[in-house]
Amino acid sequence: LELERLGIHESVEPVFPPAELADYLAALPVEIAVVDDDMPSCDAIVTLEHREAFLEVDWVHSIQAGVDRFPFDEFEANDVILTNSTGIHDTTVGETIAGYLLMFARRLHDHVANQQEGRWERPDWDEAFTLSGSTACVVGTGTLGRGVAETLGGLGLNLRGVRRSDEPVPGFDEIYTTDRLREAISDAEFVIVTVPLTDATRHLFDADTFDAMRDDAYFVNVARGSVVDEPALIDALETDTLAGAALDVFETEPLPEDSPLWGMDEVIISPHCAAYTRDYVRDTGDIVRENGDRLEHGEAFHNRVV
Ligand code: NAD
Repeated sequence: LELERLGIHESVEPVFPPAELADYLAALPVEIAVVDDDMPSCDAIVTLEHREAFLEVDWVHSIQAGVDRFPFDEFEANDVILTNSTGIHDTTVGETIAGYLLMFARRLHDHVANQQEGRWERPDWDEAFTLSGSTACVVGTGTLGRGVAETLGGLGLNLRGVRRSDEPVPGFDEIYTTDRLREAISDAEFVIVTVPLTDATRHLFDADTFDAMRDDAYFVNVARGSVVDEPALIDALETDTLAGAALDVFETEPLPEDSPLWGMDEVIISPHCAAYTRDYVRDTGDIVRENGDRLEHGEAFHNRVV
């Protein structure tokens, strides 16, 4: 692989202006251009979305950690290297989740809704609670999971992690293996999903899983929409077998206008931006630059997926 021309695909635009990344990477000894689907003679592409034409380049870097939208088999068959942006979303997503949990516990979402209507209305005596002393079960203990544990640990929550191995993980008070998922979530006030979307995690959260949760528990998904059977989640919320949910990702994005989730009082919806920050361009750029350096020194890529 010889890197002469690196394209920054225009699909990154919703996350940061492509030209900002081109500027940030200007010191790399390669030609850098912002490109559309034509991508004239690029050896590598930095992108948000997938395009069929990427099978022609040598290296594709995803600005997201999740790479479920890329066809791994086709990349492999065409000798295309795929790298991702895992490792940078610990604090950003951790803080977003702390925000969701504080909104529910301290009823801040109600205050905002009431303010829109000019309404002075206090919570019922038994509505508000503290996060301190509550239990959060975090399913997936990678970058996101650890960042969530670190942030929520600072707020006094008990942290329970669910992962495939039973090795302890810094920041978690206890670890359950995935075969004990139902048990792990059964008494938690918050269940937070931070696994990648794979064949093993697709619809991991279905009617039975929601059934295993407490009726007063809140469900948080910042992973991928299809980790959840969305109609089953909607049903659990409508029948009050769950207290509420904070959702950053959905089976269809943007979330369709007619989704019942939009109208639910105890549902917080964010438009797949839990990791957004003004530093995103630099955090991603550092991974690309590191791999540019590694390529020059003949070393293996960081964050290689395919
Ligand atoms: P990561 O690779 O650092 O961590 C993923 C963890 O999940 C790993 O520890 C892995 O072992 C574990 N895992 C994989 N399959 C599992 C299974 N079947 N059961 C239990 N654990 C399993 O990735 P990350 O940076 O933490 O990101 C995780 C996912 O979160 C991404 O794939 C992406 O889909 C999503 N994400 C969303 C946002 C957002 O803005 N909403 C931002 C970043 C990442």
